[in-house]
Amino acid sequence: MNRDEMLARVRNRTEPWDIVVIGGGATGAGIAVDAATRGYSALLLEREDFGKGTSSRATKLVHGGVRYLEQGNLSLVMEALKERGILLRNAPHIVRNLRFVVPNYSWWEAPFYGIGMKVYDLLAGKYSFGSSKTLSLEETLALLPTIRRDGLRGGVSYHDGQFDDTRLLIHLIITAAEHGATVLNYTGVTELTKDEDGFVRGVVAIDSETNERFTIAARSVINATGIFTDETRRLAEPAAEPMMVPSQGIHLVFERSFLAGDTALLVPQTDDGRVLFAVPWHNRTLVGTTDTPIDSISYEPLPFEEEIEFVLETAGRYLARKPTREDILSVFVGIRPLAKSASNGNSKTSTISRDYTIHIDHTGLLTIAGGKWTTYRHMAEDCVDHAVTLGGLEEKPCVTSTTHIHGYYEQADKLGSLAVYGSDAASILALAEANPELGKPLHPRLPYIKAEIVWSARNEMSRTLDDALARRTRALLLDARATVEAAPAAALLLAGELGKDSAWAEAQVKAFNTLAAQYIAQASHYPPLPTSTGKN
Ligand SMILES: Cc1cc2nc3c(=O)[nH]c(=O)nc-3n(C[C@H](O)[C@H](O)[C@H](O)COP(=O)(O)OP(=O)(O)OC[C@H]3O[C@@H](n4cnc5c(N)ncnc54)[C@H](O)[C@@H]3O)c2cc1C
Repeated sequence: MNRDEMLARVRNRTEPWDIVVIGGGATGAGIAVDAATRGYSALLLEREDFGKGTSSRATKLVHGGVRYLEQGNLSLVMEALKERGILLRNAPHIVRNLRFVVPNYSWWEAPFYGIGMKVYDLLAGKYSFGSSKTLSLEETLALLPTIRRDGLRGGVSYHDGQFDDTRLLIHLIITAAEHGATVLNYTGVTELTKDEDGFVRGVVAIDSETNERFTIAARSVINATGIFTDETRRLAEPAAEPMMVPSQGIHLVFERSFLAGDTALLVPQTDDGRVLFAVPWHNRTLVGTTDTPIDSISYEPLPFEEEIEFVLETAGRYLARKPTREDILSVFVGIRPLAKSASNGNSKTSTISRDYTIHIDHTGLLTIAGGKWTTYRHMAEDCVDHAVTLGGLEEKPCVTSTTHIHGYYEQADKLGSLAVYGSDAASILALAEANPELGKPLHPRLPYIKAEIVWSARNEMSRTLDDALARRTRALLLDARATVEAAPAAALLLAGELGKDSAWAEAQVKAFNTLAAQYIAQASHYPPLPTSTGKN
């Protein structure tokens, strides 16, 4: 993936593209893979970095959604369970089977969750990740040794999937490119062009690194801009009614020891009706998430003080060692792109459907919004089917249910900390062998070697320190303070690869430190929940 080469393709193209996708998150990347593997000419344009929006900020679960089961949305659960199975099959290096335990402290919980999980098993059918089981007290403690014992009666275990969201995203982007798609980060769409009948026939995009402006013709244009959906729709129809209802969720990251063992913890119903996960991830414990309606959206949303307190307090009720603010290694926040048209009318965002919506407006702009990471492939298939009709393209069958995703590798667990790279791990190790300095750790508290930064610039279009430390590696999410300490060395490596000077590296470090400060909960004072929002 060479960005200059991608830019040249856009510059030199004389024919309209079959499909132009606006947005390089899970939804857009899935569409680019679908379109390219069917044989359409596809261009994906991302304004920031791939995954800078919501797709880097998930709870990292490939799941049917136990919560949606409770809401009675069985078809959504069933579709997600099927997609979970397909994803494990196509990207075994990134998705792993994870056992979850719901601890039971009341007499009714074992039969209640036991039956619920059997329904979950049933809906998974041939895509099952393993059967659920009612656990004795001893079995529960064996799986969750750091759970609060006081009042514990037993538990219910079940299986779901876990992944690294941006690693999958980058591998999807590479998969699309390998099948002929042109993909660009830092190239935002600023206008939509229309024909004499007022139909969208292309886009204007600007490369933010050079300010080069491209006028791009397309047979169909897809808006996959997540929380920015309405902003993009207004480029086509300035009076478009908003369809997004943003809601934010936070995650706190702690040392692994808070949740020893290889099992995740699920609290399906907190005191105020929310779901809480504590999940082992990259040798840390990830705890989340909240669901708080918000009024405004941004790329780097801040957590609210009440959200941090809620997660700390609730986790503290289930873990033997109560986490405190000082224990937080990183806090990260994501905004759910919930689509209003899928709403059930309830004002609580946690009850708005996680199903997706496809909307075609009067100008022919095709918008896809909502859904979840787990179902990105199915969403893409549906969306490309619509684009084919709308753009008058020749019908071609979707092949993504059997397409291996870049890096496909069945024995990834043998690759240690490079497992998520799958088949690329060998090339990263080769970099380290050729230059032993690159084999050294980026930082003693981070599970990365310097070669990964070099690799990200050479092969994965990493353009800034934030790209390399937050989305190619996950350093910022795993330990924000260690990442700030590692930033100067990483910036020099990146500068060397991108042909930049030391002043560029220094400016990158400065900008990154400002950004990273908001991931460091100990030092930050976050805003209180606005009175207009209220907990959800
Ligand atoms: C807290 C939280 C936890 C979650 N956990 C899970 C989970 O565990 N499992 C799961 O399955 N799902 C989960 N989800 C849902 C999942 O993360 C989202 O559904 C998914 O990431 C949305 O992807 P997207 O591509 O639609 O949006 P985004 O990732 O936001 O991508 C949209 C992109 O469009 C770009 N863009 C915007 N405007 C323009 C423009 N004019 N030109 C070019 N590009 C533009 C943006 O920069 C952005 O990168 C979670 C969501 C949240 C918020």
